[in-house]
Amino acid sequence: MELTLLGTGCPKVDYKRFGPANLISTKKTKILVDCGSGITQRLDQLKLSSSKIDALFLTHLHSDHIIDFYQLIISSWHSYRTKPWKIYGPKGTKNFIKKIMNSWKQERSQRIKYESRSSTAAFKIIVKEFKNTGKINIKDIVITYFEVDHKPVKYAYGFNFIHKNKKLTISGDTRPCENVMKFGQLADVLLHEVFIDGEIMKTNKMRTAKTLHNVKAYHTPSSLVGKIAKITRCKKLVLTHLVPTQFDEKKLIKTVKADFGKNPIIGRDLLRIKI
Ligand SMILES: [Zn+2]
Ligand SMILES: [Zn+2]
Repeated sequence: MELTLLGTGCPKVDYKRFGPANLISTKKTKILVDCGSGITQRLDQLKLSSSKIDALFLTHLHSDHIIDFYQLIISSWHSYRTKPWKIYGPKGTKNFIKKIMNSWKQERSQRIKYESRSSTAAFKIIVKEFKNTGKINIKDIVITYFEVDHKPVKYAYGFNFIHKNKKLTISGDTRPCENVMKFGQLADVLLHEVFIDGEIMKTNKMRTAKTLHNVKAYHTPSSLVGKIAKITRCKKLVLTHLVPTQFDEKKLIKTVKADFGKNPIIGRDLLRIKI
């Protein structure tokens, strides 16, 4: 199994760190987790056509994780996708997709008619919404989903991907969360989000002390992510969803290593990790 980081940033615009998105792949299977800004450009850089994707999993419905959804669908149609999309996400996903597809309905109908491509299967979307926890098989990968704590977001999930006795745990967006520590036990790779302490200063009225406090409060600070990784006894810790997108890398490694006992891998876009 292989994990490819497609986007390691957050809502902030950054040329090097695109919006949150990941690819989990085996020879047979290609699964996307989230579809943040720039996902189709990153897939193109990997030379992986979006027509080949087996399923899309959504951690939660914050815009930075789903903003390029329609672009992904259109791009797959242009790439001659001949199978429907399978999408798994939290409660609210069906409604979100219905609304997005409806808002482009007229434009889409006109294009379909005018461009007369051979298949419109890319526009058939099968959505399944998560319960509290559960298991889904996509070809040779078994995915377990579990709730994480990103309140006030009501429905947010983390995932385990299992293939040939190897385990990848993805935290999704969460504050320090017991479920990540529980489901992430002995993961070969733990991909965890992080809010880097001391890197964002309040600058003006738009970003007050309260803004900073609240943003940090529903993410996992760098002072705790190493401790969480240590509790899971994971082999490798990979950090992503880096807030802010630019920071002192050596300092972050040092902080996390002090708790984890090993160097974390600082995620960067298009980094591939064999699991
Ligand atoms: Zn996010
Ligand atoms: Zn979020």
